[in-house]
Amino acid sequence: MADIEVLQADITQLDVDAIVNAANSSLLGGGGVDGAIHRAAGAELLAECRTLGGCDTGDAKITGGYRLPAKYVIHTVGPVWHGGSRGEAEKLTHCYSRCLEIAAQRNIRSIAFPAISCGVYGYPLEQAVAIAVDTVREQLNILPGIQRVVFCCFSEEVERLYRDALTT
Ligand code: ADP
Repeated sequence: MADIEVLQADITQLDVDAIVNAANSSLLGGGGVDGAIHRAAGAELLAECRTLGGCDTGDAKITGGYRLPAKYVIHTVGPVWHGGSRGEAEKLTHCYSRCLEIAAQRNIRSIAFPAISCGVYGYPLEQAVAIAVDTVREQLNILPGIQRVVFCCFSEEVERLYRDALTT
């Protein structure tokens, strides 16, 4: 079984094979973690993203990491929270499982996730964290090769929620 870790950190600094970007459907950059990743990776990341034709909510696409320590960026589009009746949970679940599936296909051994949809997309934190933890645990049982998963949290509050979820 892979090692699951919780870190309070800037995801752009992490020395893992792949970091996940909480992108928007254009894949052409934005605020929050998306902006930080594009700034740190450099203009070549945006140039590669322009060739991808966007991405559907719940899906994911992979690029190089350019100036990041990570070799790859897996861009996924989380759902915007509309109250929970518009398939938000299924879409968020799919973000985590697609990212891990793509990682396994590329023989990626270590991957770090931000708290997808938990910023401007407004997903309730506890529910998003439960989906992240449950989906990653489930997928790691069926995807061999991934050895390390990091939940990278930008705040102490989110870090505590992940730690609580992982001890249950
Ligand atoms: P979304 O649009 O999916 O809600 P955001 O980027 O607004 O994405 O926020 C997602 C999460 O990423 C939030 O918890 C936010 O605090 C966090 N975040 C923002 N910048 C970084 C960073 N550099 N490293 C890790 N997490 C970050």
